[in-house]
Amino acid sequence: MTVQHGFKAEVQKLLELMIHSVYSDREVFLRELVSNAADALDKARFMALTRTDLVEAHAVPGIRITADAEAGTVTIEDDGVGMTEEEAVENLGTIAKSGTKAFLEAVKDQESAPNLIGQFGLGFYSAFMVADEVTVESRSALPDAPPVKWVSQGEGTFEISEGSRETRGTKITLHLREDAKDFAEIPRLKHIVRKHSNFLAWPIEVDGEQANSGKALWAEPPSQVSEDEANQFYKTVAMDWRDPALRIHLSVDSPFQYHALLFVPAERPYDLFNPEAPRGPRLYAKRVLIEEHARELLPDWLRFVRGVVDSEDISLNVSREMVQKTPIVQKIKKALTKRILKDLNTFAEAEVEAPESDDDEAKATYEDVWRQFGALLKEGYYHERQLWSDQLLPLFRFNTTAHDDETGLMSLAAYKEAMPEGQDAIWYLTAESRQAALSSPHLEAFKKRGWNVLLLTETVDEWFVSALTEFDGLPVKSVARGELDLEEEDDGAEKADLSGLTPWMAEVLSDAVSGVRASTRLTDSAVVLVDDDAGLSSNMERILRAANQDVYGGAKRILELNPRHPLIVNLAKLHETDRKDDAGQLAKLLLDDAMLLDGTVKDPTAMGRRLQDLLVKASEAALSR
Ligand code: ADP
Ligand code: MG
Repeated sequence: MTVQHGFKAEVQKLLELMIHSVYSDREVFLRELVSNAADALDKARFMALTRTDLVEAHAVPGIRITADAEAGTVTIEDDGVGMTEEEAVENLGTIAKSGTKAFLEAVKDQESAPNLIGQFGLGFYSAFMVADEVTVESRSALPDAPPVKWVSQGEGTFEISEGSRETRGTKITLHLREDAKDFAEIPRLKHIVRKHSNFLAWPIEVDGEQANSGKALWAEPPSQVSEDEANQFYKTVAMDWRDPALRIHLSVDSPFQYHALLFVPAERPYDLFNPEAPRGPRLYAKRVLIEEHARELLPDWLRFVRGVVDSEDISLNVSREMVQKTPIVQKIKKALTKRILKDLNTFAEAEVEAPESDDDEAKATYEDVWRQFGALLKEGYYHERQLWSDQLLPLFRFNTTAHDDETGLMSLAAYKEAMPEGQDAIWYLTAESRQAALSSPHLEAFKKRGWNVLLLTETVDEWFVSALTEFDGLPVKSVARGELDLEEEDDGAEKADLSGLTPWMAEVLSDAVSGVRASTRLTDSAVVLVDDDAGLSSNMERILRAANQDVYGGAKRILELNPRHPLIVNLAKLHETDRKDDAGQLAKLLLDDAMLLDGTVKDPTAMGRRLQDLLVKASEAALSR
C-alpha cells in the first residue's frame, strides 16, 4: 500500500530553493548524503556495543556508490542504522536541523540562496539540486521494523510504501536531472568523494573500488600530516568550505592516551552566539563515535574550536550522559585548553616578530582570528581568569584612539610599552561604536595629552573590563568613571570659580544627578556626565536596556563642568546675580546637553520644551539687536 504525505511548508520552501538553485557547487549533495551514511554507520556501531539482536549488516559495513550513466542514476548505499517508517516520515519530511532553519531565515531572495547553500550544509534535501526524483529504501537495525520505501519528486509530496531491503541500512537512488547527468560519471564521483569525504573513517566504494583514504587522520603522527590533508579533514568535520586559520594536533600517551586534531576556523559560524547551537568536538573512543558534539571536552568559551578527540582510555560502554562525569574527560579538557591557548600564543607571536612574512594573501592572520573570536577569549577571561589569565592576556588585541583595522590592533604589552612619561594607567572607553567613542567628550583631556585610549565596543567588553582591573602592575581604568586627577596646564584663558555654583547646581539637578563638580577631563565641551565609582556605566545601561532588562531608571551620574568654557563662565556669573530662574534654566539645559552627548536622554519631551523656551529668548534677542 502506498500512502502520500505532504512536506511541511518549510521543507517545501527549501526544496524550491534547491530545485531552482543556480548554486555552482552542486557536487556538495554527495558530501551531504555520504555524511548521513557515515552518521548512520556510526550509530549502528554504537548500538552494537550494547545489544546483539540488531538486523544483520552487509558483509563489510561501509558506503557504496554506484552509477548508471544510461539510466542517469546514482545510488548511495550504507549499512547503518536505517530508518523505520515513522523515522522516514519524520526525518525526511520535516526540518529538524536548526542550521537549515537559520538558512531559510537568512535567504531573503532567490539570488542570495546560492552563496548561502555552501555555508549551511543543507543535508538530505540538497539531493534535489541534482535529482528530479529521489528514492530511499531503508531498513532499521531494530529487529522488528519492516523495511520502508520513500519516493519524491520534491514537489510538495512524498510517497511511503513497503520496502524490500533485507540487510540493515539505507539505499538512496537519485534520478539525475537533465542538466546534472554528468554526475553519473564514475571518475567524477571518485573525485568528489576524495575532495569532500576523504577522511571519513568508513570505506567509501565508488563502482566497487575504495575511493577515500579512510585513515583516521587524527591518529597519525602530527608531523606526518600535511597541511593539505589536514585542511581537507577540517572541511569534512566542520562542513566548512574555507581552510581553517589554525591547526592544533596532539598525540598524548601518558598519564592517559588520546589524540586530538582541532582547528580554529577562519570565520565565525553563524550560530556562535546561539546558546542552543551544538558545540564541542567529536568524541571517539577507539575509533567509535561516542558523541557528535562533546560539549564537555572544551570550555564553553572555546566553542569555536572544531575537530576530533579520540581516547582509548574512555570506556566504550560509557553512555553519552556519563561522558561528562568521567574524570579523564575533565583532564583532557584542561590539557586541550592549555594547548589551544599555547598554539594561539605561538601564532600571535610569530606575527609580532615577522609581520610582513605573509606570503599567502588569503591565509588568515592572528588578527583575523582575533576579530572573529576575540569576544570569546574575553568571555574566557571573565569566567576563568583564575586558571588562564597568563595565557589569555597576551592574546588580547584592541582598537585604540590611534589603532583601527587599517593600522592594525594593539596588545596590552604594546600599549604599556608606548605609554608616554606621566601616564600611569591603561585607559579605556566602552561605547556603542568606534564612531561614538571618538566623539565622546571623555576623550578630550586624553587627546590633548596624546594618551592612547582603548576603545571597547563589543557587548562582552563591559563584563571583560569588570574582570580586567590590572595588567602587568598597571591599573586599568575607564576614562568615563570617577574623579580624574589630571594635572592642568594653564593656557591663560578665563577660568571660573565654581565653589559657589556647584553646590547650588547639585541642588537644582538633584533629581537627575548624584553630584556636580569641576572637571579636568574637558578641553572643548562645557559639560560631561561621569560614571560613579561604583555605579552602572552608561554603556552597560544601554546594553541592558537593549536586552529589555529593567535597570530601574538607571544609575545617577555626576555632572562635571569645564571651568574654562564660556558657557560655564557665564553661568557662574549669572548665579552670582539674583536671576536664579535664568541660571536654573541654563543649568537644566546643560544637563540636557550632557545627556545628549552621552546618548542617555531620559525625558525628551521636557527637554524639547526647554529648548523651545531657549530658542524663543534667542530669537527675541536677535530681533532686538
Ligand atoms: P542531519 O544529517 O544534519 O541530521 P539531514 O537533512 O542530512 O540532516 O538528514 C536528516 C535526517 O535523516 C538525519 O538526521 C537522519 O535521521 C536521517 N537520515 C538521512 N540519511 C540517512 C541514512 N543514510 N541512514 C539513516 N538515517 C538517515
Ligand atoms: Mg546530514
